[in-house]
Amino acid sequence: MINFNVPPFTGKELKYMREAIEAQKICGDGQFTKKCNTWLEEKTGTKKALLTTSCTHATELAAILAQVKPGDEVIMPAFTFVSTADAFVLRGATAVFVDIRPDTMNMDETKIEAAITDKTVGIVPVHYAGIACEMDTIMDIAQKHNLWVIEDAAQGIMSTYKGKALGTIGDFGCFSFHETKNFSMGEGGALLIRDESYIEDAEIIREKGTNRSKFYRGQIDKYTWVNYGSSYLPSDMNAAYLWAQLELAEEITGDRLASWNHYRERLSPLQEQGKLVLPTIPKDCTHNAHMFYVKCKNLEERTAMISYLKEKEIMSVFHYIPLHTSPAGLKFGRFAGEDVYTTKESERLARLPLYYGLKPEQVEYICDCIEAFYA
Ligand SMILES: *Cc1c(COP(=O)(O)O)cnc(C)c1O
Repeated sequence: MINFNVPPFTGKELKYMREAIEAQKICGDGQFTKKCNTWLEEKTGTKKALLTTSCTHATELAAILAQVKPGDEVIMPAFTFVSTADAFVLRGATAVFVDIRPDTMNMDETKIEAAITDKTVGIVPVHYAGIACEMDTIMDIAQKHNLWVIEDAAQGIMSTYKGKALGTIGDFGCFSFHETKNFSMGEGGALLIRDESYIEDAEIIREKGTNRSKFYRGQIDKYTWVNYGSSYLPSDMNAAYLWAQLELAEEITGDRLASWNHYRERLSPLQEQGKLVLPTIPKDCTHNAHMFYVKCKNLEERTAMISYLKEKEIMSVFHYIPLHTSPAGLKFGRFAGEDVYTTKESERLARLPLYYGLKPEQVEYICDCIEAFYA
C-alpha cells in the first residue's frame, strides 16, 4: 500500500533525542530548541523565531500580540485548516471569509478590500500547498487600512515570494511541524517575528506570562509573573527530533521536489487533454513541494478517482470542508462577497501521496493508475 503521508525521519532523531535526555534538559529552551530557533532565523532572515507547541499555538500567540479582542473582524480564506480561524475566534473575533483564486487556491487578493469594515483589524493569508499568496498586494492593502498581517505559513517553510521567505513578510508568520508537514517534531510549530519590538512580549506570553527567558539569559536575577500568557514552549526532546530534519532541510526539500516534478511531468498530458487540472506556481514564487494535488471535473469524479486509487492500494485524500459551511464557521464567521470558487474548487481537489522517501517507481505507479482511471 502507498500511504498518503509518512512522517519525515532522517535517522539522527533518536541520537539527538538521547542527547537532550542525557543533558538532563527535557523541558523547553534547551540546546535543541535554540539550534532550531537560530536555524529558522538564519534560513528565513526573520528578526526572531520561537519554536512553539504547534502552528495553532503560534497563531494564537500572534493573535495575542496583535491584541485581537471581542468584536474584531479578521479576514482570511474559508479554504483552510480550522486553526487559521480558531486562533482569532478564541479571542472573540469574527472570521470574515473571502473567496479563493482557482489557480493557486489562495485567498483572492482582489476580494479583500470589499470585505473591510470599521471592525477589521487584520488579514491572515494562508500559503496553500507552500505556494505564496499575492503578498505585495496584501501588504499594500494592510498598510492603506492600518491592518496587521499574520501569515499562516504552516505549509510554507522553505518557500519564497519575490525572494523573501514565507512567514517573514507579514507582522508575524506561523510554521507547522506537525507530522504531515515537510519537517516535523510530532506536534510543533514556530512563530516568526518581523519587528524587534514584539520579541520581549512574545517570549513572556510563550512562558506563561513570566520573564523566564530573560532570567535564563542572565539578564535579571529572578523571574516573576509580568503579563498574561500561556504555555507555548515545546519540550527539548521534540526540538531534538526536529533538529535532525532541519539539518537535512535541503535534502528533504530536494527529494520532495523530485517527486512533485515527476508527478507534474507524468500528469501534464492529462491536463493538456482537459481531463484534470494541476497546481500553478506563479512566477516570483519558489515552492517547497509541500503538496501535489489534482483537480478533477467535479465532486462525483473526485469521489470515483479516490476510491479507484484506494482499490489500487493508493491513499489519496481531500480537504478542506470550507470553513463558512461548517457548524463553527456558521457561528463564528461570515462569508464576505460571493463564494464563486471556494466550494466548487475544494470539491474537485484530491491530494496525492507525497513524503520524504516516496520512490520514483511509486510515483510512476500512481500516475499509471490515474491514467487508467481517465482512459
Ligand atoms: C497544518 C496546518 C495548521 C495547523 O498546524 P498545527 O501545527 O497542527 O497546529 C494550520 N494551518 C494550516 C494551513 C495547516 O496546513
